[in-house]
Amino acid sequence: MQSNALKDEEKVKSSWYILDTNGKLTEAKDFDFGKHENLKKFADYEIKKVRAYEQIPEHIKLMRKLQLVDYEPGSDPGNLRYYPNGRLIKSLLERYVTDKTIHYGAEEVETPIMYDYEHPAFKDYLARFPARHYIIKSDDKDFFLRFSACFGQFLIMHDATMSYKQLPLKIYELTRYSFRREKSGELTGLKRMRAFTMPDMHTVCGSLEQAKDEFVKQFEFCQSVLASIGIEESEYEAAIRFTEEFWSNNREFILDLVKNKLKKPALIETWSFRYAYFDPKFEFNVVDSMDKASALSTVQIDHENSKRYDITYVDSQGKKENATILHCSPSGAIERVIYALLELEAIKQRKGRIPMLPLWLSPTQVRFVPVSDKHMEHCIKFAKQMGQRDIRANVDDREAMMDRKIREAEQDWVPYICVVGDREIESGSMTVRVRESKKQEAITLSKLEEMIANKTTGMPKASSSMPLLISKRPTFV
Ligand SMILES: [Zn+2]
Repeated sequence: MQSNALKDEEKVKSSWYILDTNGKLTEAKDFDFGKHENLKKFADYEIKKVRAYEQIPEHIKLMRKLQLVDYEPGSDPGNLRYYPNGRLIKSLLERYVTDKTIHYGAEEVETPIMYDYEHPAFKDYLARFPARHYIIKSDDKDFFLRFSACFGQFLIMHDATMSYKQLPLKIYELTRYSFRREKSGELTGLKRMRAFTMPDMHTVCGSLEQAKDEFVKQFEFCQSVLASIGIEESEYEAAIRFTEEFWSNNREFILDLVKNKLKKPALIETWSFRYAYFDPKFEFNVVDSMDKASALSTVQIDHENSKRYDITYVDSQGKKENATILHCSPSGAIERVIYALLELEAIKQRKGRIPMLPLWLSPTQVRFVPVSDKHMEHCIKFAKQMGQRDIRANVDDREAMMDRKIREAEQDWVPYICVVGDREIESGSMTVRVRESKKQEAITLSKLEEMIANKTTGMPKASSSMPLLISKRPTFV
């Protein structure tokens, strides 16, 4: 059975508009982008679809310079290796998005990474991405590696008994990994990979009205997820995509989303007909240092898979009804969030600002630099004391000039650098180089701890798996 979806994708006609907060829909080519430079870059990228990079993207240089992530020549391209600091950042993001999604009301599950190639429910799906999946052989059967959590979660939903009283019902999995055999020429650092970590939530809804209601809530949920991670609203652009038919029936619904939730103009793509399972969908897209865009958060209303997988609920009359399903990734792939954070910092750096990771993700939050050997013990004591308060502190105990140690801590984007000498030990007041403000401040350790605790409130904490002494740490890159 060959899917028509691919052929339909070629036939569908896309039109591009900008919808502003006054509800005015303007053809993208006629819109005055004056105050919306980032949206212009995003619209250009989407409409022209020039995907290839001419130079190495900045985040690839940074992921290696900061010793976070690297290519792995021993694996299939697009499967990456994470060094301890990269693993730490990824793990914090994974925990954050998962905790936040469970808090939003989703029930966490775990599903297999491989599925029967011959399963009737998958055939259409597989045909949409010919040659884009890994095939695994087991006995005489072929299995494909999942490229999302849809398969496993839909099979769970198919077997579940659900009542209208339990809807909307949200199911969540952080897939580590999902696999997609992207063309080797398209593989790009942390932006496009063959193995990626996807927070994936699916919501079973009753009516389309309930699905639309949930779509708006999840739009706001995605906004809050990106904001807490440290990606500001000015740093991403929304694309909302739907069929002309959906637009004519749901104008107010879309207008309300842009006017009251997004509160800035959005790129609109309309389709002449529904060529795939979703209508509508939105994504939040980040524009990188080379003016290329990438989708982070996304939500889609699915009109096909409830029938394909026979996912039903019992309505108030006791009758079985097909559900409407939403797909949502609250943040997009975790790797891509790291890509976005690094690219956004590269842009800041180009504008003369100092790059840094959000404090809650900084692998080292505080670096102690002893003025001389006799101050070493104090530094170690301070760093351990901070460790007990869930702050990642370490000590540069190497035999090197103090200036060099400070310079290297700056190159590692350390948010707080404390130089510790006689004066600091006697007075109890530290001279702290604060990266964010570029200033030196005299503050006590407990005050510094309090500052860090305040700035990381509500975010997951983790200690570093790297040694406390810098001399004990290997160089990975
Ligand atoms: Zn899905």
